[in-house]
Amino acid sequence: MTLHDAYDPDNIFAKILRGEMPAVKVYEDDAALAFMDVFPQSEGHTLVVPKGVEARNLLDMPADKLGPYMATVQKVAQAVEAALTPDGLVVTQFNGAPAGQTVYHLHFHIIPRWKDVTLGRHGSGEMADTDKLGVLADRIRMKL
Ligand code: AMP
Repeated sequence: MTLHDAYDPDNIFAKILRGEMPAVKVYEDDAALAFMDVFPQSEGHTLVVPKGVEARNLLDMPADKLGPYMATVQKVAQAVEAALTPDGLVVTQFNGAPAGQTVYHLHFHIIPRWKDVTLGRHGSGEMADTDKLGVLADRIRMKL
């Protein structure tokens, strides 16, 4: 997938947004849906996906939708911090396969970091246990 290929409406996150695939949801509003990453790079790794757009990446995102979307990214990041009290928080996204993107619907990663805990590799590793993700999602939701 280059930066200029067409948006694929059947990408995984589009299917989650349409309710065609399951996700451990954390929060939803008019701008975005937040859910737990199933291959987390750290405990509490959360994704925030914009709704109502066909944006593969940040470059595609309609400017008028960016503000409300980023407000939700910040809201969820604040809740992750309040719930899990990490030492730091990575908030990031990738644009195009050579940059590391693997799912082509815009999303921000919220990745808690703790001193002396090594970060898991991006897009690899074992699938997390759904029940454990559910417990984390509940803890984050309580801080929203
Ligand atoms: P990126 O490589 O930036 O496109 O990130 C895609 C992220 O989505 C990775 O961190 C994957 O672990 C995660 N992921 C892939 N499939 C799913 C899924 N069905 N539910 C939740 N997270 C997913």
